[in-house]
Amino acid sequence: MALSDEELERYARHIVLPQVGGVGQNKLKAANIAVVGAGGIGSGVIPALAGAGIGRLTIIDDDVVEVANLHRQPLFSEGDAGRPKADLATEFVRRLNGFVETSPVRKRIDPGNARALLAGHDLVLDGSDNFATRLAVSDACVALGIPLVSAAAVQFQAQVGLFRAQPCYRCFVGDAFDADDCDNCAELGVLGALAATAGSFAALLAINTVVGVGGNQAGKVHLFDGEKLEWRTIEIPPDRGCKACRGNP
Ligand SMILES: [Zn+2]
Repeated sequence: MALSDEELERYARHIVLPQVGGVGQNKLKAANIAVVGAGGIGSGVIPALAGAGIGRLTIIDDDVVEVANLHRQPLFSEGDAGRPKADLATEFVRRLNGFVETSPVRKRIDPGNARALLAGHDLVLDGSDNFATRLAVSDACVALGIPLVSAAAVQFQAQVGLFRAQPCYRCFVGDAFDADDCDNCAELGVLGALAATAGSFAALLAINTVVGVGGNQAGKVHLFDGEKLEWRTIEIPPDRGCKACRGNP
């Protein structure tokens, strides 16, 4: 798959990077990524992935824009209130980069539909706002063998991690949240710029994973303290009894 002259010009500042080059840019073009959640995290992720030239983006979100979203979701503007986020985010991608094929899915992911919606993607980036969705996404990614970048932000705390085979996201958070579909942003608040920080970091992790930059980052979770302005990284131990990834290598 060769890059056209127009693509070579468009991605020149990527291609000049020794870690990316034409080979890396072609990997981005060949990649098929599902983004779960077009909210605060998605507002950082979606422009970065579309700008980077990811070949196919599926944007999954069942929500509509509310005025209280606008402080952290710059994909949308005041006139968008009441419109579906997945449709608006897809329109944004088309305006930004005509080389990206994109499609909206206006559905809420749950354990019953997650595998069908995520199958066929090379990587899933989850920026959803509740544990029920995150666990459904993670369990499907484990079953399908798809690497998962998971990102979340609440109050002044953000976390971003890459999960592949084992440990999985469920090893990290456990099973307690299966029954507790808490929407932490609505209840606890979140600083808008912090969601953007987590989204940008998650997009970087996804791009590095696709291109193969920075070695294997799977099983690490990066935690950001938005008050101290400090990142720290923890390694997640595999849960040998995990009901999702037990038995995976
Ligand atoms: Zn697990």
